[in-house]
Amino acid sequence: MRKGVWAMVFLLCWWVIGPVPLENQTVDGSQPGVDHREVLEKKLKRLDSQTAVLGAEPAAEQTEVFGMKSSAEKKKNEAEKKKIVAEKQKSEKAEPKRQREPEKKKSADTPDRRTDDGKRSVLYFHGPRDKKRVALTFDDGPDWRYTSRILDILKREKVRATFFLVGRMAEQRPDLVRRMVREGHVVANHSWNHPNLARLDSSRVRREVDRTNRVISEITGRSPKLFRAPYGSLDRRVERLIRQRGMIIVHWNVDTRDWDGRSSDRIIRTVRQQAGPGSVILQHTAGRNLENTVQALPRIIADLKKRGYEMVTVPELLKVPAYEEDEGKRESLGAVR
Ligand SMILES: [Zn+2]
Repeated sequence: MRKGVWAMVFLLCWWVIGPVPLENQTVDGSQPGVDHREVLEKKLKRLDSQTAVLGAEPAAEQTEVFGMKSSAEKKKNEAEKKKIVAEKQKSEKAEPKRQREPEKKKSADTPDRRTDDGKRSVLYFHGPRDKKRVALTFDDGPDWRYTSRILDILKREKVRATFFLVGRMAEQRPDLVRRMVREGHVVANHSWNHPNLARLDSSRVRREVDRTNRVISEITGRSPKLFRAPYGSLDRRVERLIRQRGMIIVHWNVDTRDWDGRSSDRIIRTVRQQAGPGSVILQHTAGRNLENTVQALPRIIADLKKRGYEMVTVPELLKVPAYEEDEGKRESLGAVR
C-alpha cells in the first residue's frame, strides 16, 4: 500500500517537473556529455596557452577549439571570450610589474626589419631557422638567490647562455657579472631599473640604457650591444632611441612564463612544444619564485640535447657582436671568453 503511494507521488513529480536537465548535458548542443565548467575551463586553458605562445594569432584555430556551430553561439562565445580575456588582463595588471613580461604584439618571421625611416632597425625575435640551434636567455638578474645556481647548472652542463641584466642589480652583484663573462656567457642590457620604457620620456629612456651599459662596462670592460626591453614593451620612439645607441634589440619567441611560479613540468613542456631551430627562449634569474626554473633547467637542457639542438649565445645565434668592442671582429662574435 505504502509502496503504491510513493509510486504515485513519484509519478506526479515526474509529470509536474518533467525530466530534470542533467548538469553534464550539452552546453552548445555540439558536444554531448561535456560539463559546462569543463568547457569554460578548456576555454580558459586555451586562452592561457594562446597568451603564452608569443605571436600566435590563430583565429581559425580558436573557432575550431571553441567548437562553435551556429552564428548565435559564435557571438555568445565571443562575448564570453572577451569577458575572460578582460578578467585575465585585469588580474595581470594587479601583478607586480617586476614580475611580468607581457607578450609581444607579433612575432617577426624575418630576423630583422626596417623602420619607416628606411634605416635598419635590428630587432630580433629568433635566429635563422635552418640550423638546430637555440639560445637560452635569462632576464632580470643577477640576484642573490637564483643566479649563481643557474650558473652552476650551465657550467655543469657546459652550456652558454645570454643574461639580460638589470643595471641596478648588476651594480650590486659585480662578482656574478664577472663570473658570467668568465664562464663564456654573454651579458646584455635590460635597462637600469626595469621600467616600462614606452611610458618614460626620452631622456629617461636614454638614462636607463646608458647607465646600465656604463656599469656593465665598468665591471667587465665591455659595453653590451644587445638590449631587451622590460616586459618587451617598445614603441617606435623607444626603438629609435635604442637604435641611435647602436644597439640591437632582442626579444624572444619562446616564453616559459616561469616568473609566475608555474610548475617545472609546465616550463619544460613549453620549451618542448615551442622551441624549434633558431628559437630564443626566455627564462629568468631573478624574481619572487624561480625555484621551478632552477628545477626545470637541467631537464630543459637534456631535452634539447636529446632532440639534437645546440645551445648557443644570442650573438652566436644571430651572428651579431655581443659588445661594442667586438664590432667588426667577426671571429669573436658572441664568444668573449
Ligand atoms: Zn625583465
